[in-house]
Amino acid sequence: MGDVIVVGAGLIGLSIAFELAQRGAAVRVYDRAEPARAASWAGAGMLAPYTERITDEPLLALCAASLREYPDFVARIRDASGIDAHLRLDGVLYAAFDAAEMNALRRQAEALQARGVGCEPLDRSAVLTAEPWLGASLTGGLLKRDEGQVDNRRLGRALAAACDASGVRIEQNFSLEVECDARRVLGVRSDRGFNGARAVVNACGAWAAQLHGVPRSCVPPIEPIKGQMIALSVPSGFVRRATWVPGAYLVPRDDGRLLIGATVESSGFDERVTAEGVHALLHSALDAAPALGSFTMTESWSGLRPGTPDGRPILGPSELDGFFLATGHYRNGILLAPATARLIADAIERDESSALESFSIARFHTEDRAAQRITHA
Ligand SMILES: Cc1cc2nc3c(=O)[nH]c(=O)nc-3n(C[C@H](O)[C@H](O)[C@H](O)COP(=O)(O)OP(=O)(O)OC[C@H]3O[C@@H](n4cnc5c(N)ncnc54)[C@H](O)[C@@H]3O)c2cc1C
Repeated sequence: MGDVIVVGAGLIGLSIAFELAQRGAAVRVYDRAEPARAASWAGAGMLAPYTERITDEPLLALCAASLREYPDFVARIRDASGIDAHLRLDGVLYAAFDAAEMNALRRQAEALQARGVGCEPLDRSAVLTAEPWLGASLTGGLLKRDEGQVDNRRLGRALAAACDASGVRIEQNFSLEVECDARRVLGVRSDRGFNGARAVVNACGAWAAQLHGVPRSCVPPIEPIKGQMIALSVPSGFVRRATWVPGAYLVPRDDGRLLIGATVESSGFDERVTAEGVHALLHSALDAAPALGSFTMTESWSGLRPGTPDGRPILGPSELDGFFLATGHYRNGILLAPATARLIADAIERDESSALESFSIARFHTEDRAAQRITHA
């Protein structure tokens, strides 16, 4: 296999680079900023496709496959980097605060159990035994046993180190354009010159539509969706596992931080943390658990999720030979990193992309393709 260039060093780009390097490819990763610092740093790290209530079947199947791959993925990265990403598959709890929500959770449990997903409706006292910090108005909950969380900031550091140890060259603060002829990708050009490659992967997250130099048909329709989060400092073990309450989720980290997230906002590339955003998160969290009110708020931040018009990621080859897309993971890019890496590596290495058909950029192309001029975006 010849050289592969991955543009974008978030968890998606780094996972692809690591997978390809492990398979023997020569890989370079270029990021215009710092690796693993954008959405991949800002996320909550929940691995929770069932709690997310994803109803799109191909997406749910991809998420479920990726969840199964997580233990091996994290172990391979730890072996290569020496950094443990703190994967915890100890379940995710959804807490209900009224009878209607509890009934909806019971129906969801039946549907999930029919698919073989490990989950268990819990009554009020069982939930309070498991998570005593939840408020008195609790009705019950649903525990999805197979779900969990990973510390995505540690995972980003681990992946960058694993890539380094596997011979991947990561260049940061690097501005570039893709270069192609009428048929295929040639490489990337920057003010430091031209770098040729057999394959180029657009893994630019929320900025993927702004990667210049490719035909318009290869520009993914990505929209940034802002998410704000905060963290409280809580005693170790105060919150035992990731828990959803109305309007927010709470994710305990091993270092004593309790993450509370996240807003969902269409506000372009605005990454400000706002009073309204923080207020909404605190309001939801304290409504469900007044006991959290006395803890110190230690951090607030935001990130841009890469959204697509239909909520599915955009994965696989494009009309331009050698140019691949790996973006649009929206709320589930941390969860989807292992499956994305495997499938994009299969597409590049073996020309095998049938598993990615439902995620192809071709689904956005209009009937009137003949009228589409190949212009450079
Ligand atoms: C608040 C919040 C909470 C979230 N919670 C979860 C969660 O619990 N579970 C989950 O699975 N997902 C979650 N997500 C979603 C997840 O974080 C994203 O889907 C995922 O991180 C996307 O990864 P990425 O590598 O595609 O993008 P990013 O991490 O954004 O990386 C893209 C990279 O591309 C670089 N780049 C952009 N343009 C260029 C260019 N032209 N040239 C070179 N480099 C470029 C950027 O600098 C950046 O480093 C959350 C997201 C947010 C914001």
